[in-house]
Amino acid sequence: MNNQAVKCDSPVFNQSLLSADEALEFLLDASAAPEKKESVSLDNSLGRILACDIHSTINVPGFDNSAMDGYAIALNDNQLLQKNLSFDIVDRIPAGSTGNELNKGCAARIFTGAPIPEGANTVIMQEECEVSNDGNRIETWRPLSLGENIRPMGNDIQTDDVILRAGLQLKPQDVALTASVGVAELEVFKKLKVGVFFTGDELVEPGNALNRGEIYNSNRYALVALLKQLNCEVINLGNIKDSLDSTCKALEILASACDLIMTTGGVSVGEEDHVKPAVEKLGKLSLWRIKMKPGKPLAFGHVGKAAFIGLPGNPVSAMVTFFLFARPFIKKMQGVSNHKNQTTQVQTNFDWRRPRPRREFVRVKLDHSTIPASANLYPKQGSDVLSSVVWADGLVEIPENSTFSQGEVLNYYSLTELTQ
Ligand code: AMP
Ligand code: MG
Repeated sequence: MNNQAVKCDSPVFNQSLLSADEALEFLLDASAAPEKKESVSLDNSLGRILACDIHSTINVPGFDNSAMDGYAIALNDNQLLQKNLSFDIVDRIPAGSTGNELNKGCAARIFTGAPIPEGANTVIMQEECEVSNDGNRIETWRPLSLGENIRPMGNDIQTDDVILRAGLQLKPQDVALTASVGVAELEVFKKLKVGVFFTGDELVEPGNALNRGEIYNSNRYALVALLKQLNCEVINLGNIKDSLDSTCKALEILASACDLIMTTGGVSVGEEDHVKPAVEKLGKLSLWRIKMKPGKPLAFGHVGKAAFIGLPGNPVSAMVTFFLFARPFIKKMQGVSNHKNQTTQVQTNFDWRRPRPRREFVRVKLDHSTIPASANLYPKQGSDVLSSVVWADGLVEIPENSTFSQGEVLNYYSLTELTQ
């Protein structure tokens, strides 16, 4: 974490009303890749972030080889593009072995992946030839050309190629490609440690009965699950008593152990909110009112060396602000080069008659029978309606102060992508 970059005490930002773009830009400026790296085996590398480029020291494949089970043939020049030829079978080359040099006009039984023997210049698949009754000859019918069914050396990767770049989050195919060049261990960034706690005397853990005025703490489970999906190490202090003292204690414990501290709720200016004064007491804090819906209040700062992000308390606001702000911030802090959220375009299946001053991120389900897909709006868009996020495929971004009719093409954030 580069604390120099955290200009959160700047009067420009404190208590200010920011656009979603300004808030994201500010957060990304304050986030930097970790310095600590570690080496992991390929089996333990999935989802980790590559800390350096991977170069290949070999060609893949390392030798010309057969793409088919069939016959390698050393065609004579006068046999090129001729029909109805016959060749003596003089060798048998399974994958993993090398055959002998093939004389002109001869064939070798060959299997997929086996090296093309010296002298051979084409391969015919077994389905396209007939073997004589004694098994010593093959006959072909169609004209043969040079290089058929031969996978040339270095076809996939060549020596000194950079096969993967630093900052990549490793997917199964990346791990496989690394294995294919013989690399057994990868240098990755250390996992990000994120500490969380929750305040609010109304919060009750699932499994217990509710008294009047109480609600279950859903944000705790949302936040922990979202962080785990991002491959963070989570230190969860659970529910903390809504007092300045307990909040300060929780922050101190996490500041010494974590790269980032996250909370939900308690960052509005209500008297019962102790997160804001506690962070201000121990570190630095900016409280932003972001011109978006859902999710107006967002707090950012640091306590000791740990960065701090306080999400809004309303469950939909907490999730949406996590997706839009915390996720790219965390990904950059993890060392991911491609840390920004990806959007695609969809068309609205609804009108937007009344211009609203805040940018809205509405929960929609897609109908893929049109191009682009059409977005249907969930009828209840309140920031407390968690069912809307469960129902939805994604979020449509509605620009501030806009009106439109059905068919408007807008940015779309897929929840599948946002939750992985
Ligand atoms: P706050 O930001 O603390 O003023 O909370 C705003 C709204 O979010 C209130 O209705 C809270 O009850 C609700 N809320 C706060 N924290 C949680 C939580 N952990 N789980 C579910 N709802 C919450
Ligand atoms: Mg509260």
